[in-house]
Amino acid sequence: MRILVLLGAPGAGKGTQAHILARHLGLPRIATGDLFRAAVRAGTPLGIEAEQYMERGEFVPDDITVRMLLERLEAPDADRGAILDGFPRNRAQAAALDDALARRGTRVELALYVAVPEDELLTRLSGRWLCQAHGHTYHDVAYPPRTPGICDIDGSPLIQRQDDQVEVVRARLANQLGFLEEVVEYYGPLGVLRTVDGRRPIAAVTADLLDTIESRPYWRT
Ligand SMILES: [Zn+2]
Repeated sequence: MRILVLLGAPGAGKGTQAHILARHLGLPRIATGDLFRAAVRAGTPLGIEAEQYMERGEFVPDDITVRMLLERLEAPDADRGAILDGFPRNRAQAAALDDALARRGTRVELALYVAVPEDELLTRLSGRWLCQAHGHTYHDVAYPPRTPGICDIDGSPLIQRQDDQVEVVRARLANQLGFLEEVVEYYGPLGVLRTVDGRRPIAAVTADLLDTIESRPYWRT
């Protein structure tokens, strides 16, 4: 079983790459948010436990998350492996996952880090504008309006939600990058970390990731 972990900051394109890799490699993409929702819907014992935390607005404890993940890996579609998207989120989760996998005689095969510098993430995440009249969306870099601050379609003023304002994004990002760094530093010494340059177009990043994965000597067996 080949467990691939995909790492990246919000805005780095990690989720997009996880979907593309899953399709290309024929492996399931496992995101913990989806796992929680599925387990709650199915009313499994772990789902019932997790729901109690979520209803109180608390984080689901790592050991429940890891047990749910292991349960998911038992499903027939994961018998060749899986791509983990969004887990582990911190060093403790990474260690808990390793322990659990080791007990099953397996381990994380590769931790693939889609790296994008902080200032670029900030530009990607904070440049969104909405038109006041109809919610038409713009982005400072990706899709700027013809006249700054004015909607191309209806001429109404563009506003920025608080969540999209640069100082709000900067604070949120700093916190998330701290945890990401922990995980990256955890996998480094284990020899499974591979970093790809996430500043390039989606297809180029995918090609790099696939090269890295498929060059593993035993990948095709
Ligand atoms: Zn508009």
